[in-house]
Amino acid sequence: MSLPTTNSPDTTLDSLGSAAARATLRAHPSRGYVQIEPPVEPMPRLSKELGGAVELFVKRDDLLPLAGGGSKTRKLDYLVQQALDSGADTLVTCGAVQSNHCRLTASAAAREGLGCHLVLEERVAGSYSPEAGGNNYVFGLLGAKTQVVPLGGVDAAVAALMEELKAAGATPYYIPGGGSNALGALGYARAAISVVEEARKAGRPFDAVVLCSGSGGTHAGMLTGMRACGDQTKVYGVSVRFDAAKQKSRIEAQYKECAKLFGNEAPEEDVVIIDSQVGPGYSLPTPEMRSAVEAFAKLEGILLDPVYTGKGAAGLLQLVREGAFQPGARVLFLHTGGAPSLFHYQPVPE
Ligand SMILES: *Cc1c(COP(=O)(O)O)cnc(C)c1O
Repeated sequence: MSLPTTNSPDTTLDSLGSAAARATLRAHPSRGYVQIEPPVEPMPRLSKELGGAVELFVKRDDLLPLAGGGSKTRKLDYLVQQALDSGADTLVTCGAVQSNHCRLTASAAAREGLGCHLVLEERVAGSYSPEAGGNNYVFGLLGAKTQVVPLGGVDAAVAALMEELKAAGATPYYIPGGGSNALGALGYARAAISVVEEARKAGRPFDAVVLCSGSGGTHAGMLTGMRACGDQTKVYGVSVRFDAAKQKSRIEAQYKECAKLFGNEAPEEDVVIIDSQVGPGYSLPTPEMRSAVEAFAKLEGILLDPVYTGKGAAGLLQLVREGAFQPGARVLFLHTGGAPSLFHYQPVPE
């Protein structure tokens, strides 16, 4: 399939959202990686296992295009277009040692014929191994160059790398960690508008949305898109790294920036964070994550990942068990991908 060229009319937008929301989306060209919306699927066996009072659904963003799929494809759809429009020949980004975002950035770079440099942050001391499988194996396979820095070493390494590339005559474009700035989050605003519209067309809106809250573009973008089409559904962000207070302020800042693109406010009370699934820290396993990964696999045939969606789904199960949702509620879990790292961590059985 040939991708649309820069600034070609994006026909997938024709029926999306209000005229004002469409105008905002049109003002920011995307590369066209997301031509077909992944399905929203019911999860009847998991719903039944949890008592049957709540109807659970999953948005299959793990099935998005680019190598291995996942949420970052939606952000890269906008970011890579901007990189190409600015004449870049090299993508530079950063992430953890099993970063899904780095995998997908490397995949986009390969597809566009761009160079790709990844700065990998060893957030857990001793967690990096050059021989590691999962995403680490795929970085090199996709042609990306990698360097590893200790926790907190990213900014200095990226600055040095950008200078080095420029000195060598390259034109690098920097994509922030997780692709999380207002432009990247726009990919999720668009996704949210599409989810809301589809549910409205079917006459069955959702009563709550549960997603992982990491670098924040997903959470901020979903809130922006839902509110931009007048949907006030509560969004629960399950933190995978920081405590609730810190994560809330990180999301509020990004939500403001993204909502501004639509000319909208970003009410602080929209940002709801659950931090009970972080456990000992980012990427470190918890019993709740393990049992959520097992439940999705055995009951619905869906692979989660141990770092993000396993903990996000553990948050979903916790909310259902605690009675956070009314009987009969329709709850949507956003599957943001990540399964390739499952083949490295193998969290189940304990
Ligand atoms: C990056 C990522 C997230 C978190 O999304 P953010 O926009 O960074 O908050 C969730 N799930 C998976 C699989 C990811 O790779």
